Amino acid sequence: MKFVVQVRLFPTPAQEAALADTLRLCNAAANLVSRTAWETKVFRNYDLRLHTYGELKSMGLSAQPAQHVIKKVADAYTTVKAQVKAGIRQPLEKPIGFRKDAAQPFDDRCLSWQIPDRTVSIWTTDGRAKGVRFGCSDPQARALAAYHKGESDLVHRDGLWLLIATCDVPDTDVTDPDGFLGVDLGIANIATTDDGTRHAGNALNAVRHRNRELRRRLQAKRTKSAKRLLKHRRRAEARYARDVNHVISKSIVTEAARTSRGIALEDLGGIRERVRLRKPQRVTLHSWAFAQLGQFIAYKATRAGVAVVYIDPRYTSQGCSTCGHIDKKNRPDQETFCCTSCGFAEHADVNAARNIASRGAVGWAVSHAADDAA
Ligand SMILES: [Zn+2]
Repeated sequence: MKFVVQVRLFPTPAQEAALADTLRLCNAAANLVSRTAWETKVFRNYDLRLHTYGELKSMGLSAQPAQHVIKKVADAYTTVKAQVKAGIRQPLEKPIGFRKDAAQPFDDRCLSWQIPDRTVSIWTTDGRAKGVRFGCSDPQARALAAYHKGESDLVHRDGLWLLIATCDVPDTDVTDPDGFLGVDLGIANIATTDDGTRHAGNALNAVRHRNRELRRRLQAKRTKSAKRLLKHRRRAEARYARDVNHVISKSIVTEAARTSRGIALEDLGGIRERVRLRKPQRVTLHSWAFAQLGQFIAYKATRAGVAVVYIDPRYTSQGCSTCGHIDKKNRPDQETFCCTSCGFAEHADVNAARNIASRGAVGWAVSHAADDAA
């Protein structure tokens, strides 16, 4: 499975100038290629290369960066075309434009990592910048060392220089699971397992609430310092959520591995529909945070050889995990589950997690029966 590791670069002033100039040149080149594509109606990577490669070289781009610029443009048109076809955007009326600091992909020939030293060497318009320092956590460094593969994107965002590296974990042999650990994702409890372990979201929700209040107060003043403060808080909140997600996913995967179980998760696409919230709560539902938790669990599970199944989340919160009876009235409030048919009572999130666990077991059995038949 693929995932990304994002690290922050700490370039010297000279290196920073070279990086800025590199992005500027690559994106000027991308805009040129984009206009050529638009005017000549040539959008395929290979064909575009025939039309533009020479010109990019004469602008001062080396062979690899020039090819990446062309591919970036071709990919952007492919994406738009797919979106138009899917009906989620209008057709273009002018060539795609690239911001002067838009992300630029670098492959292994243009970027090499010295992970123990926490430095990279990267191609720039001012020659190769060597020993550019980066910062990352130890787990990120281990993931990079073990799984980094292919391209990384150089990004300049909010004044920060970032490298976003693609990692690919090969599928390990998954241990045939002895049952499934069901995980219910929510707001009050970020994650609840069918064993009854609840990872409470109080602290995270409190941070979000405070930031929301601050945002409301500061939005009136549109000063630079207010904007800076908000940006700072938003980043701190994201970092905090990330840490929380790491801790929770680690605990869940460790528990599943210890008990030789697989992990059953709700199909994340369904979460937004399932969680119907009144307005004040809706803001606390950051779908990216759920998606991230799901990714962390999947990634750590893959690494540990723990099976993961995704189940259809419909009625997991209204259905009785003992008798299967489905009724809205089974759940009189946020925390309580009490079956109107058989009388089974449990914390609502634990009941949902039990439903998820049993659906996981069924889903696994069905997909493996198909494997055996094939
Ligand atoms: Zn029941």
